[in-house]
Amino acid sequence: MTPDRYAVIGNPVGHSRSPAIHALFARQLADSIDYTRLECPNDAFVSTVRQLATSGAKGCNVTVPFKFEAYALGARTTPRARLAGAANTLRFDSDAGVDAAGGAKGWFADNTDGIGLVRDIEINAGVPLAGSRVLLIGAGGAAAGALGPLIEAGPSQVVIANRTRDKGMMLAARHLHLARTHQVMLLDTTLDDAGRAFDVVINASSTSLAGEEAPVDEQVLAPDTLAIDLMYGPLAVPFVEWARRHHATGRDGLGMLVEQAAEAFFIWRGQRPDTALVLAEMRRQLDVEPS
Ligand code: NDP
Repeated sequence: MTPDRYAVIGNPVGHSRSPAIHALFARQLADSIDYTRLECPNDAFVSTVRQLATSGAKGCNVTVPFKFEAYALGARTTPRARLAGAANTLRFDSDAGVDAAGGAKGWFADNTDGIGLVRDIEINAGVPLAGSRVLLIGAGGAAAGALGPLIEAGPSQVVIANRTRDKGMMLAARHLHLARTHQVMLLDTTLDDAGRAFDVVINASSTSLAGEEAPVDEQVLAPDTLAIDLMYGPLAVPFVEWARRHHATGRDGLGMLVEQAAEAFFIWRGQRPDTALVLAEMRRQLDVEPS
């Protein structure tokens, strides 16, 4: 039988480790899928994804810069994708008619980035978020995907620090209701005034991708801080070392990548892989020191 087809669409996408991760999931679960990279021009996302679906593929992951456009293609969206206004996972369900409950049928769109980050922090790194003080650096697509699930994990406070203050403010405003519901104090600030001694510091800005230094002062760290950069591979090393130099625990974004992929795999295939085994194998392949 021909394996079901999936792809990760982005621009650029050549660096993506998603095909390797999904191949490991499938092998572990004795499943068979065909998962490839699909690079598409910035003005051709919608036609590329429609072509993929028409050719019989079952779904796709979506990465920079198409997560906002991907969300707009979802006839059905999850609350976490709606809060983010962005999707990283599409399932090409039949796009006509109504379902058994009378709802609109069509493509299913979700955002698994945030739950992937929360699982990596709490399960893989062993740091509970409940009651903690969290600094979220950045207010772009990754931060937008992360904030809802972070709030739902019940920290006492989340501070968003972004280069462009307005964007941080808007991101906070969109999540204010959720924060109140979970009794989380949600604040926004500038990078220069990010605060001190957080329990968890998350670099969801693209500074590491650009080869730049950590964009906040070291006083955000304390000896027990978990400082995690969403970047992985060699580009994450300077941030991880910066954290360690200041006696915090540094961690890269590979665990989040594997966890968000596992959630997408579950959405498509209905099976949950053992992510610890796959993360260990990915670290071996990338030759990155475990955090
Ligand atoms: P976006 O382009 O949507 O957002 C970039 C963010 O970085 C904005 O907040 C921007 O601030 C900020 N920024 C950019 N340059 C600087 C700078 N020089 N100094 C300070 N802040 C800066 O990118 P994404 O949110 O999609 O991605 C962010 C990072 O997360 C990337 O490195 C990406 O690879 C990684 N990522 C990792 C994932 C994983 O699974 N591990 C999943 C998703 C993303 P401003 O608003 O001022 O422009």
